[in-house]
Amino acid sequence: MNAFRSLHRSILILFAVVVISIVTLVHFSVSKIVAEQSRAQQRSISPALSLIVDQLLKPLHISQTLVEAKELKDLMKSSDIDENAVLEMLKRLEEEFGMGFFIASETSRMQYNSNGTTLELKEETVDWYFRYKAWDKDAIADIGQWADPQFYIDLKVYDDDGKFVGFFGTSKALHSFVDIFAEYKTEHSYDFIFVDQDNNIALSSDPELIVDKTTFRTLESLDWYKEIDRDSLPNQSLNNVLVTTGGKDALIAEVSIEPFGWTMYLLTPLQERQTEISRSFIISIVSLLVLIFALFVVIYHLLYYFKKDMQKNFQTDPLTKLPNRNKIELRYAELQDNNQQVGLILVDIDHFKLVNDTHGHNAGDVVLRQISMTLQNELRHGDIIGRWGGEEFVLLLPDTTPEQSFEVAQKLRERLAGMTTSMGSITIQITASFGVSHTDTNRPLTEVLGYADDALYQAKRDGRNLVRMQLSKAA
Ligand code: GH3
Ligand code: MG
Ligand code: MG
Repeated sequence: MNAFRSLHRSILILFAVVVISIVTLVHFSVSKIVAEQSRAQQRSISPALSLIVDQLLKPLHISQTLVEAKELKDLMKSSDIDENAVLEMLKRLEEEFGMGFFIASETSRMQYNSNGTTLELKEETVDWYFRYKAWDKDAIADIGQWADPQFYIDLKVYDDDGKFVGFFGTSKALHSFVDIFAEYKTEHSYDFIFVDQDNNIALSSDPELIVDKTTFRTLESLDWYKEIDRDSLPNQSLNNVLVTTGGKDALIAEVSIEPFGWTMYLLTPLQERQTEISRSFIISIVSLLVLIFALFVVIYHLLYYFKKDMQKNFQTDPLTKLPNRNKIELRYAELQDNNQQVGLILVDIDHFKLVNDTHGHNAGDVVLRQISMTLQNELRHGDIIGRWGGEEFVLLLPDTTPEQSFEVAQKLRERLAGMTTSMGSITIQITASFGVSHTDTNRPLTEVLGYADDALYQAKRDGRNLVRMQLSKAA
């Protein structure tokens, strides 16, 4: 019963451990997935932001700082522009900042570039100047000069009275972006597209999409964009919209580049993120399975020991710790399987009821235990003894002839008759009667036992403390 209770408790504890492990692992898996997802999102967005800062905002801020310089304003507002001084200043700035600068003067209607070239600003040929002059924005990002397309940042310059005196800005050849973008694409494996306020594609990681001599590709001309149902989107934002491009799923991040009114679309391939997320998920599941497997191994072993323990309980007599009737039946079957001749002795204590009546049941138990020990001490190697019930014992003697069995019984009878049990002031002495039988063929235990029982009764009838033998059915 004890074993059963401890198994019961162990299973409950293991069940609790499994439940707690599952809950904990699911919790950690989910947090891991969420963390992994946001990390992946951050990983994809932060290089894109540094790209925007490095390639677009830094030139803008440098230009914005320079446009406030007194030297520049003085040069631009004077009624008679000193071309040499202007070109010299631009050249100096180019050397200092490693970027190309230009000035477009309202006074002289000339454009001066830091590479020393100049260009007359005529409405028919240089339309940007006149278009942007009319706009109310002070900073404009633009792609222009079709022969060798350039990315321009145009900043309006005003004199002290707030009068427009021209543009100052920086330019960068578009082809110089291609290498930088290609590098980003290989490193972070995503695509990006910069569009202006009219959705013209100004810059992109895909060289195919960048302005081709005279015409812009527009966002609307892209297949993935056409497939988006814009009306169903909240705030019309493409953030987190899933699209298919080049046969692959990609997640869009939309970043607005305020100073220019531009927007950047970042297309992150989903497959890579899925792989990362599923990898961490698989690791969690595998560890869960390993844990469950380990717990089941423990349960299996517990069950195994429990079974063994129970078996022992079912087959052992609790008072004398001798094999009980069940065990004896099993052992007899084993001996029969091995085709061994077996001697069988049945022992019954004489007038045992009297022992109980005189000295009490507890004293009777002590005597029974001592009898069992005395009998065991006399056994030869291979002999089997069991408690058949009450004050009856049974012995199986493998490979023993009837004569030898009879002798063993006689010896045991003498031992028991000579045995005394002392308890305090009282001394108890008992005798026992013995019935012997034997089999050298395959016979059921009940049959052989029946003969021994008959012999035993004969011993009782003949006066007790005797050995009698019966080898076959009495006539
Ligand atoms: P006999 O065999 O010589 O004819 O007389 P008996 O008194 O031994 O016969 P019986 O079989 O009638 O009595 C057996 C007694 O054994 C009765 C029962 O109280 C006692 N007994 C059986 N099992 C136990 C036990 O586990 N402990 C104790 N103390 N007594 C037991
Ligand atoms: Mg009896
Ligand atoms: Mg008896």
